[in-house]
Amino acid sequence: MQFFSTRNYDKTVDAPTAITEGIAKDGGLYLPVSFPSFPMERLLTLDNEQVSLQTLSLLFDEFTEEELKTAIHNAYSENFENGDISPLTPLGDAYLMELFHGPTCAFKDVALCLLPHLLRLSAKKLGIEDDICILTATSGDTGSAALFGFSDVPGTKIIVFYPHGGVSPMQRRQMVTCPGKNTTVAAVKGNFDDAQTGVKNIFANQPNVNGVRFSSANSINIGRLAPQIAYYFKAYRDLCKNGKIAMGDAVNFVVPTGNFGDILAGYFAKKMGLPVGRLICASNENRVLTDFFETGVYDKNRPFHLTASASMDILISSNLERLISLVVGPEKTAQYMKELKESGRYSLDKETHEKLNAEFFGANADDKETAVIIKKVFEKYHYVMDPHTAVGYAVYEKYKAETPKDKNVTVILSTASPYKFTRAVLPALGTEVFDDETANMETLRIISGTEMPKALFATLHAEELHKDVIEIEDMSAYVERKAAKHE
Ligand SMILES: *Cc1c(COP(=O)(O)O)cnc(C)c1O
Repeated sequence: MQFFSTRNYDKTVDAPTAITEGIAKDGGLYLPVSFPSFPMERLLTLDNEQVSLQTLSLLFDEFTEEELKTAIHNAYSENFENGDISPLTPLGDAYLMELFHGPTCAFKDVALCLLPHLLRLSAKKLGIEDDICILTATSGDTGSAALFGFSDVPGTKIIVFYPHGGVSPMQRRQMVTCPGKNTTVAAVKGNFDDAQTGVKNIFANQPNVNGVRFSSANSINIGRLAPQIAYYFKAYRDLCKNGKIAMGDAVNFVVPTGNFGDILAGYFAKKMGLPVGRLICASNENRVLTDFFETGVYDKNRPFHLTASASMDILISSNLERLISLVVGPEKTAQYMKELKESGRYSLDKETHEKLNAEFFGANADDKETAVIIKKVFEKYHYVMDPHTAVGYAVYEKYKAETPKDKNVTVILSTASPYKFTRAVLPALGTEVFDDETANMETLRIISGTEMPKALFATLHAEELHKDVIEIEDMSAYVERKAAKHE
């Protein structure tokens, strides 16, 4: 498959190039030149790994089926309980797709366990002998998942930037205790948007470090987005197999959203032939996307809120650019992105806005509403949600209230384990929170009757290895120093 930039459709690159570059040279993001059709008539015959294989071999056909099959097996068979990346759990009249059974307990594991394999295959195809240095800005979960995925992978280095004071204590511990010899982690004095912009600027200026090439593990990398398409097909397969829907019925998906990557994977699934009804974009108090779908105006000039669902504390949702480009084409996209950079806002025309609203719906829930949902869902179903999933559930209820005629079966993406966010979850359940995180996890274990994720527990007792705190302006120099230094 060839890929072009969201801002210019004239030049194309193959999948290995798109994956190793991470971001296009003009600052745009890579899009496939067309969407291949998933063979829906075969869906019910495919097992878990085969659904991923089918998805990826359509989009990344430069790799052999054998190469992809091995990569998928290595990524998932040991790292996920029963090798299942996305078990479905019924909850009232909806279904939760639990995406947090991987090594760092958030949905980002699904893509980040696989990305190192895709990068190595890509480097091999392109004959690249340089080390690949992954630069990552994280709102909390990408960092730990990327560190786990890339730790001690030969031929790679990874540098992670997280907002100082802007991630949960557990998220921080997961990152700063990472023992991999090729890993660097630094807190940045700013929020996630500052860190992400810093990383994008570093890509734009391509630091010159001997023997090193830079790439991205953020969802701006198409190699990060593609693995996520598979679980939308998988959820559909499971609903069909269990008789909850008939083949061809439309299904809605509610997606707790920050950078617009996960929900965009759902849109790609739709483009590849999955019968998707509405894609419901759930935001927290940082409701820039809610306003965007409501008004057609994207405006990041607003206060930034630190919330209980911190992985969604984002005002510049990078992947929205891909959706915009698919709808309005490259010239207008380039113009909107220029306006966004210069004035922090752009405005869709009426026709485009209406087009988007036929396929998407945006709503938000603040921390108070989120806490109420966590309690309510627990009391009704004896199920403990993390705050991100609870934002999704709150928005699901708002959607139902607003569109009573829509009878589609709905799947809510459950993006993280509640054990990562005990300090938001326990107070919502009306329970005491301790300074000691071990005690909090134990409390949650007893209340919820679920097993404590072993990997999270282990990080509580590991040594803190990464202590750097740096200024935004120093990110670039820091990268040059660290990328050159690693063995
Ligand atoms: C990253 C993250 C999100 C947001 O996903 P995007 O792809 O950035 O929209 C939601 N929930 C959790 C737990 C996350 O880690």
